[in-house]
Amino acid sequence: MDEISPEILQQVIKKRASNTHKGDYGRVLLIGGSENYGGAIIMATEGAINCGAGLVAVATHSLNAAALHARNPEAMYIDWRDHGLSKLIKQMDVIVCGPGLGTSPFAQKILKMLGQTITPEQTLVLDASALDLLALDNTLLPSTAVRIILTPHQMEWQRLSQIQIPYQSASANAAALAKLFPDHNAILVLKSNHTQIYDPDGQVSVNPGGNPGMAMGGMGDTLAGIIGGLVAQFGSDLATVQAAVYLHSLAGDLLAQTDYTVRPTKVSALLPKLMKKYG
Ligand code: AMP
Ligand code: MG
Repeated sequence: MDEISPEILQQVIKKRASNTHKGDYGRVLLIGGSENYGGAIIMATEGAINCGAGLVAVATHSLNAAALHARNPEAMYIDWRDHGLSKLIKQMDVIVCGPGLGTSPFAQKILKMLGQTITPEQTLVLDASALDLLALDNTLLPSTAVRIILTPHQMEWQRLSQIQIPYQSASANAAALAKLFPDHNAILVLKSNHTQIYDPDGQVSVNPGGNPGMAMGGMGDTLAGIIGGLVAQFGSDLATVQAAVYLHSLAGDLLAQTDYTVRPTKVSALLPKLMKKYG
């Protein structure tokens, strides 16, 4: 299995030309954050903003609006019950769905609408509850062939693939990915202490970084936002996803040099400085 090397950041992250504007750096919509899980979508938002997405919009429960704006005034907010949501989805390059979304009938309705609205030019990042909803009902998958990036931890992958954690071998995972998403050009980011990335052709790479200080709620939400932000800027190739996973763990490892625990918000806060070395 190939290890992702530090050169991936050099390869993916580009220096910004002076005559560019926010429209050149992509639009990301994040959908999630039910009543009691607003923090998850806020942390994902923070990841997307700090890694440089040109425009970040958030569809969440109205109770989260004030906290979202207090923390990230850069983000645009829409009530996830607003009928304008499907129109907004169409204007985006990347949609990240799942952090704190929950599995209520309403959450299911949003995922279904998203699947019917998204077009092949767009990329869909599915995390957390969105994966659990898919595990319960695979008719929620997009009706057209779009690039999907899935970011389950091992338990979410167990529910989705029906492969018990001890049996999640590279060959079993690759076969399940092909079987579950035959039409969706799907990349699987299987998160653990050695996160693995599967491309649709069955190639697997492993991320060498990360540390147990990162084992904290919100760390995966942050990664989903970083993937969204980098894909918005640099495209949805496998290399971009590898760079996002590498960058997230690199930030975590730098923080862990001096800190016992690594807060997800600190990982996001470190991104602009880390990326500056490469762009
Ligand atoms: P989630 O379970 O969705 O919050 O995702 C957890 C994130 O933290 C993933 O990106 C994991 O790779 C990372 N993580 C958690 N624990 C460790 C660990 N012991 N070593 C390396 N990375 C970890
Ligand atoms: Mg998670």
